[in-house]
Amino acid sequence: MTTRSDYHQLYNLSAWRRQLRPQHLAREPLCRACLRRGIVNDGSLTASGERQTNPRRRFLAVDHIVPHRGDRALFLDPENLQTLCPDDHDRNKQRLEARGYSEERGPDGWPLDPNHPANR
Ligand SMILES: [Zn+2]
Repeated sequence: MTTRSDYHQLYNLSAWRRQLRPQHLAREPLCRACLRRGIVNDGSLTASGERQTNPRRRFLAVDHIVPHRGDRALFLDPENLQTLCPDDHDRNKQRLEARGYSEERGPDGWPLDPNHPANR
């Protein structure tokens, strides 16, 4: 069983902090969701493309496309990562929590999340 503390401990792994996260940000230094809307956001803008006035929200989050729910392999899968600004990260999380699965799709158009109804 995955406990809440196991879940949070994953973020303390040096494989995540020293390798995966910085490597992902170097490869994808812009919010993926903003880019889809034509906004080039390096973490200094809001999701609507305006200057982010809150300095505590001027950063980029490395998000797991398919929620890892404490699964170490899914957590450490470099293909399961996307860069998001804090606004898009919050929106994504709220949508995910409401639905319980990610709508993110692979190159073939099929939903990636094993919990998506199409994969059950
Ligand atoms: Zn964004």
